[in-house]
Amino acid sequence: MDFVGKKIIVVGLGKSGSSVSRWLAERGASVKVSEVRHLSELDRELVRDLAALGVELETGSHREETFLGADLIIVSPGVPPDLGPLRLARGRGIPVICEMGLAATLIDIPIVAITGTNGKSTTTSLIGSIFREAGISVFVGGNIGTPLIECLSEGKGADYAVIEVSSFQLDTMDDFAPHVSILLNITPDHLDRYRDFDAYVRSKLKICKNQGPDDLAIINDDDPILSRVGPGSVAAVLRFGMGKGENRHAYLEDEGVTVRLGGSKGQHFRLDNFRLPGRHNLENLMASLLCATALGIDPEKIQHAIDHFKGLSHRLEFVREIEGRAFYDDSKATNVSAAVESISSFDRPVILIAGGRDKGGEYSSLVRAAERRVRRAILLGESRELLARSLEGSVPYDMADTMEDAVSRAFDSSREGDVVLLAPACSSFDMFKDYSHRGRVYREAVERLSNGR
Ligand code: ADP
Repeated sequence: MDFVGKKIIVVGLGKSGSSVSRWLAERGASVKVSEVRHLSELDRELVRDLAALGVELETGSHREETFLGADLIIVSPGVPPDLGPLRLARGRGIPVICEMGLAATLIDIPIVAITGTNGKSTTTSLIGSIFREAGISVFVGGNIGTPLIECLSEGKGADYAVIEVSSFQLDTMDDFAPHVSILLNITPDHLDRYRDFDAYVRSKLKICKNQGPDDLAIINDDDPILSRVGPGSVAAVLRFGMGKGENRHAYLEDEGVTVRLGGSKGQHFRLDNFRLPGRHNLENLMASLLCATALGIDPEKIQHAIDHFKGLSHRLEFVREIEGRAFYDDSKATNVSAAVESISSFDRPVILIAGGRDKGGEYSSLVRAAERRVRRAILLGESRELLARSLEGSVPYDMADTMEDAVSRAFDSSREGDVVLLAPACSSFDMFKDYSHRGRVYREAVERLSNGR
């Protein structure tokens, strides 16, 4: 594709926006970034670097004329799709894609693409680790870490790209056709952005709908929605689930996972050293094992990689023990189903710290899980009243004003042997920069509590 002289508007100067602006400017495109934040809020060094490459910057608002004069618009995943100037531009036939969509059309190595409401980052990293263990050169990124466009520079020479894909990205990726697609689960999330749940489901299913006969779609057969759908394409389907089933290619058996492909006897993987807690991580594991086995990776290498995989920060991560209470950080549990999985991972009483920015879902499954395990909930953030109303009469709760306050109240309500769990079921943007900031603030509060005792 020739970009020389093309007028390209990049909407949003986040990670993918800055990478793609730089990449396109270096290839002779005339790039303008349109960013709603004010200049003073942007990283100065980044602004200087982009200016040096000739990238123009429009800040503080999005101007219609800017959008309407473009040959191509590249929109960041966080930008609302119904933004006025974007709608106008679409109406005039100006193509609107995302950075990942552009990168995917330019990359000529096979792509393994992972989506789902939860578990994307964990599964992406786990597959990346398996590939590396097997000596395969792999680019790992996408919605996690490094934007896919970097695969064309930094990731040059890789044999595979393993990428996390969000529904926001899929929304603008109409031709996407990865070699392997993985659909982990679909539960209500982001209902503040989609018209309804069906629209969100349709977006997720786009990951497999253009795949060809030599491609693979790996699908969670225990997921109530996914167990009923096919890939909507001619891709070969591999399904996984907890129990053995007729049409299942990976399942739990003899304290391990059996992977059975194409009528083979099956390959058994041991779980003794797999460290990630919870049933949900077994799903992430089964998806990864199916992918790696189907791509012909040596089972011994796979076993070694899963035995040594440590998991990611802020995903049900053990922080420390204070006077017999185990503190866990699951700040990444930003929706109800992740928080439910998180609570259900423990067989001991839990003091739950929850709340943040509500995403338009509902909390009844959280209440059901909390009734079984949660001794007391400590509610924080914008949604605390909403959560309090849901828990009323089922689970005792307290309100906290800050994370420090929440951690201290949680400790005061706990008994020896309990778990104190941050699993907010909401996004972090009401009080924090993002989920990792919220997780860090929690951990610092836990450390201070520990030092003060
Ligand atoms: P994502 O990238 O999709 O947000 P992560 O791997 O970062 O997924 O995990 C996000 C949250 O969801 C964490 O709280 C984690 O404990 C939980 N989680 C991880 N895998 C699953 C799964 N397969 N099903 C449900 N919840 C999960």
